[in-house]
Amino acid sequence: MPVRLAIIGGGPAGNTAASVGATLGAEVTLIERDVVGGAAHLFDCVPSKAMIATGGALTALGRARQMGLDAAGKLDVPALRERVAGIEEHLRQSVVGLLESQGVRLLVGAGRFTGSHQVTVESDEGEELVDADFLLVSTGSRPRLPDWAPIDHERVMTTRDAYPPKEIPEHLIVIGSGVTGVEFTHMFDSLGSEVTLLVSRQQVLPIKDAEIAAELETEFEARGVHLLKGARANGLARDGDTVTVTCEDGRVIQGSHAVLAIGSIPNTEDLALEIPGVKVDEFGYIPVNRHCLSNVSHIYAAGDVSGRLPLSSVAAMQGRKIAEHVMGLHLRSHRHVDYDKAASAIFTEPEIADVGLAEADAFAEGRKVRVTKVPFAVSAKALIDGDPRGFVKVVSDPATGVVLGGSIVGRNAAELVSVLAVAVTNGLRTEDIVDSLLVHPALTEAVVEASS
Ligand SMILES: Cc1cc2nc3c(=O)[nH]c(=O)nc-3n(C[C@H](O)[C@H](O)[C@H](O)COP(=O)(O)OP(=O)(O)OC[C@H]3O[C@@H](n4cnc5c(N)ncnc54)[C@H](O)[C@@H]3O)c2cc1C
Repeated sequence: MPVRLAIIGGGPAGNTAASVGATLGAEVTLIERDVVGGAAHLFDCVPSKAMIATGGALTALGRARQMGLDAAGKLDVPALRERVAGIEEHLRQSVVGLLESQGVRLLVGAGRFTGSHQVTVESDEGEELVDADFLLVSTGSRPRLPDWAPIDHERVMTTRDAYPPKEIPEHLIVIGSGVTGVEFTHMFDSLGSEVTLLVSRQQVLPIKDAEIAAELETEFEARGVHLLKGARANGLARDGDTVTVTCEDGRVIQGSHAVLAIGSIPNTEDLALEIPGVKVDEFGYIPVNRHCLSNVSHIYAAGDVSGRLPLSSVAAMQGRKIAEHVMGLHLRSHRHVDYDKAASAIFTEPEIADVGLAEADAFAEGRKVRVTKVPFAVSAKALIDGDPRGFVKVVSDPATGVVLGGSIVGRNAAELVSVLAVAVTNGLRTEDIVDSLLVHPALTEAVVEASS
């Protein structure tokens, strides 16, 4: 009899576990109350990056003269909405098509535990019981909303209301300057909004290298974004077409719209986790061990609910590892998810990406490292592309040459960081990168230079 795996939540964690589990021979049931592909496809990664790409095309048109062209571009909001919805639908169909072809049973409805090995799925059609040997909770997260913000989903928005937008805000106030906040700032600035970014501390991206944050702040200011530092919002009101935000220090900022980008909370409260005895922490996250197992030996948790790095890529990798663990593959060759080696990117312009050990962390730990930095200004391809902003920084072990981490600020940083991510994950040395015969002219040459 095949192993039965039931999964609640079809985002990157759930659908990857389903796909890999089915490929390895498990009998998989995937329960999703909304759209297979998850918030990642519907609200987060995909629509935000689709809009950023449109903003990027507009910015490129703005640089037409510099590229030897004469061109003008005007934003067509309905066409933008259609484009974003089209991409989401295409991705949804590909994921569903793949899972169906692999024999995964898809159930539409909200799942909750009704037994230690049982989930009840509730939908318009009624209730269905699913029994399983192993279960995975991958129900994701939703935006955190403070009690001082009267969200109306129109002018006072969460990140989920902002795309596809019905209109481009005249003056958007972005509350929160972490990754999501700076991406929204970039997105709406490039689409033509006046943007005010409230930075609660003294630097955007508070957990990033100060040098990287400074590069982005300089870029934002050059583009006319209003950066208000030390501005911690604690009040918000809408009066007609005007939104007013007040800050703890008494500052008052007015705009046409406001968006809250102040983090997320896990979707764990409606799952009746107490029935199988799955523990959650004080914030509602499900603590997991290195196999992504909860405190209950047959129930896993993955993705945003696990309280680890809230990234689609991490969620998908956890899903893959869980499927392998369920099928006993960890007894053979199996690498655990190494959260310290996850690459991540911020899709601003210029893009920012990093992986592994950051120079500032090495410094704070008093660790001896070699840091080499090359600006894109020396890259032929960056000059050809008309965008020589930013740099590549590689952090390595001075004794062995093993690549420990790196940061890239510049065009296509999210793609370029993959070279460093492969090196960090596999313990490659800087000379392994230098000895690789890569393409010319290409931005990767700057990565090779920085590894020399
Ligand atoms: C604005 C924004 C942009 C982002 N951009 C990126 C990016 O560029 N790259 C990146 O790597 N990460 C990005 N992220 C993070 C990323 O979206 C999340 O880390 C990722 O979606 C987590 O995947 P998941 O599988 O845990 O959950 P989700 O993608 O949230 O999916 C969970 C699914 O579970 C379903 N569900 C919930 N409860 C139930 C229930 N009881 N029964 C049935 N189904 C249920 C939901 O409907 C949902 O479809 C972004 C996040 C935000 C907010």
